[in-house]
Amino acid sequence: MGWAIETCNLFKSYDRIKAITDLTLTVPEGSVFGLIGPNGAGKSTLIRMLTGIVRPDQGDAFILGRSIKEKTGSIRQRVGYVPDVPTLYPSFSVADMFRLGCRLYEGWDERRCYELKRVFGLPTGQLVRNLSRGQKVQLALVMALSLRPRLLILDEPTAGLDPVIRRGFLQSVIEEVAERGTTVFYSTHNLNDLEQSADHIAALHQGNLLFSRSLDELKESIHRLQVMFARPQTEENLKTIPGLIDCQHKGRIFTLTVSGELDAIKNQPVLRAASLVEKVDLSLEEMFVALMKAHGYSFAPDYRPGGVLSGREEDAK
Ligand code: ATP
Repeated sequence: MGWAIETCNLFKSYDRIKAITDLTLTVPEGSVFGLIGPNGAGKSTLIRMLTGIVRPDQGDAFILGRSIKEKTGSIRQRVGYVPDVPTLYPSFSVADMFRLGCRLYEGWDERRCYELKRVFGLPTGQLVRNLSRGQKVQLALVMALSLRPRLLILDEPTAGLDPVIRRGFLQSVIEEVAERGTTVFYSTHNLNDLEQSADHIAALHQGNLLFSRSLDELKESIHRLQVMFARPQTEENLKTIPGLIDCQHKGRIFTLTVSGELDAIKNQPVLRAASLVEKVDLSLEEMFVALMKAHGYSFAPDYRPGGVLSGREEDAK
């Protein structure tokens, strides 16, 4: 399998702010790859480098096998990009934008454009400047999908969309992947979106890559166990388990969240002494929260599923 995106030791600073530090990341072709991280983590900077808007200070990246430093129009023909704030022509109507897309892109698919326009109910005659923010995002997505891209890059695409449109948006993206094997690389704060669509996840914090894993790898790497002891146990004893992320208990029943290989975890002396060790299913979101915690993150105290990332624990102090 090839890489749709490959970054090699990318660096980018703005004055003294290190927006991206030594980032090496691969995005498999045909994957739906979610990029997460708190505000200011460097997601947009990375995406802007990949789309040629911002130049890296050091390192390189390859989009569909071509370096971002090469000036080649052929890559633009095959990459659909929806920025966080879509750049569209304000004095054009929606229909004018579609006509422009048809002129600019060799692979433009008029039928797909028509279908998507209907899905989103975009007002064809309306001027871009009079569209709402959500409608502009929808228009940018319809344009990006209609050029029949091999790679779709989306910067927080569902932010500001109402729930019905958001579902339509994700559905269109998922259809595109299912039908054509398009690679989708998107940044998001929304864990529900991630759960619905991504098969790979990478997390950034302060410009550093914390982890990059397929969903299967993620599922293999984090476990929740319910453990019962015949004799009273202390949390201190359980903290000897390598990879322990979280430990809660009620009486003699402990709920442990642990990263690592399941058999090796169960083989820890303290767990061999337990009268019951039972694996409990974790949702993707719970796994993700645990993994972030393992890397030193906390979630806001009022965090609810579908919530957004807060900062690192030490940042909050
Ligand atoms: P968010 O989730 O809030 O959109 P992000 O992960 O996309 O954040 P970036 O927009 O890439 O983060 O910003 C990374 C860092 O670089 C931040 O500290 C930001 O202040 C800084 N930064 C980004 N763009 C610029 C710029 N044009 N000039 C100066 N600093 C910038």
